[in-house]
Amino acid sequence: MKLNDLPTFDTAALRAKDAAHHLHPFTDTRSLNAAGARVIVRGEGVRIWDSEGQEIIDGMSGLWCVNLGYGRQDLVDAATHQMQVLPYYNAFFKTTTAPAAELSALLSEIAPPGFEHVFFTNSGSEGNDTVIRLVRRYWDLQGQPQRKILISRHNAYHGSTMAAASLGGMSGMHEQGDLPIPGITHIDQPYQLQHGKPGESEHDFGLRAAGWLEAKILELGADQVAAFIGEPVQGAGGVIIPPASYWPEIQRICDKYGILLVSDEVICGFGRLGHWFGCQHPHINTRPDLITFAKGVTSGYLPLGGVLVGERIARALIEQGGDFNHGFTYSGHPTCCAVAIANVQALRSEGVVQRVATDTAPYLARQFATLADHPLAGDAQSLGMVAGLVLYKDKAARTLFDADLGVGYRCRDNCFKNGVVMRAVEERMIIAPPLVMTHDEIDLMIARIRRSLDDTLAGLRAEGLI
Ligand SMILES: *Cc1c(COP(=O)(O)O)cnc(C)c1O
Repeated sequence: MKLNDLPTFDTAALRAKDAAHHLHPFTDTRSLNAAGARVIVRGEGVRIWDSEGQEIIDGMSGLWCVNLGYGRQDLVDAATHQMQVLPYYNAFFKTTTAPAAELSALLSEIAPPGFEHVFFTNSGSEGNDTVIRLVRRYWDLQGQPQRKILISRHNAYHGSTMAAASLGGMSGMHEQGDLPIPGITHIDQPYQLQHGKPGESEHDFGLRAAGWLEAKILELGADQVAAFIGEPVQGAGGVIIPPASYWPEIQRICDKYGILLVSDEVICGFGRLGHWFGCQHPHINTRPDLITFAKGVTSGYLPLGGVLVGERIARALIEQGGDFNHGFTYSGHPTCCAVAIANVQALRSEGVVQRVATDTAPYLARQFATLADHPLAGDAQSLGMVAGLVLYKDKAARTLFDADLGVGYRCRDNCFKNGVVMRAVEERMIIAPPLVMTHDEIDLMIARIRRSLDDTLAGLRAEGLI
């Protein structure tokens, strides 16, 4: 469908309805309504269009999920076919569906060795709720029911249900709901700009940051600790790429105390880091017991999430567990599973994951790094198809802007104006583009980001803020 074939949209009327009736996630509704929401009406490849016809490169893959890009007829066909044959059936009462069975087998093919089982949910948040249930059930079955505590990290994002928000380490979320729930505690994140010591190498910082896990385990008593959970690269926290020394040391500590390791791969899974799962990237290199996934499993075309269950937990659950009293009406939803199958097959048959590793991600890394010569920008880094940089007030002295100035939001707004979606997280500006981005599209995206940095700097100068 060409843009010209689309019906015209009455932007003002849509904005008015949205403002009158729609409460947006993670949004200050009053200030949104004053400005009016941008109405997105179409997507094709790595681009989206708004109702006023502006073309925008989607540097965030929607919300970290549209890994294959927009407009994939094969995914549409898979959904259409399944909806005609059997739009829905459940998996509760000794029944399954063809797509749920086929996808389970397909996921075990692409997962790291030892992952032969999957539990389906509708989202990453529900996946992490399921993680808590699985972890505690496992230790019950091991005769160690006192092992209840899950350790996570400040500034982690694990979702927005009560349990997933508790696992996450977002203080703004904890404040609005008396979180975390009991049995969850947090250590500091491996973010050197915040926690590094002067003159400390990245390697030494990574080891020291991992050591915070061991200190916490010893403080709590190892026999009380059930699991550690982390994102291979923190996404919503601002694309925090840990030093290469960090994850292997975390793995060593988990092994030493017999603690389960959970890799939240809701962002890093399905090729985002150039491997099927982020834990397989040499920079991460862990052997988790559970893997949470969502987002990229369907490239966002339909909602689906789940947990890949490693051997030791699966065996306990199946051989000793009896009923596992947990599940969702839409666990293994056949239409969502059908789209996931088409998505995984396309990622595989088109060599997308491999191309990210050998071509697209290295090219993005080189081009993104050039942004660090901009007077506002530093620490421009990427891993696979996620990247982030820091907005500095004075790069040489490494001083940041006063948070009240909202410099990141100014930059984000300039990005939108210049036709690229880039996200602001405090001092960091981040991207996670579709995995299918070409070199030309990367060049255009970087040029638009650079122009937005220029515009942000000019604005700050005009207001006498720099
Ligand atoms: C988005 C996200 C979640 C939550 O997934 P939802 O589908 O929004 O519930 C969990 N973990 C990570 C790492 C995420 O990025």
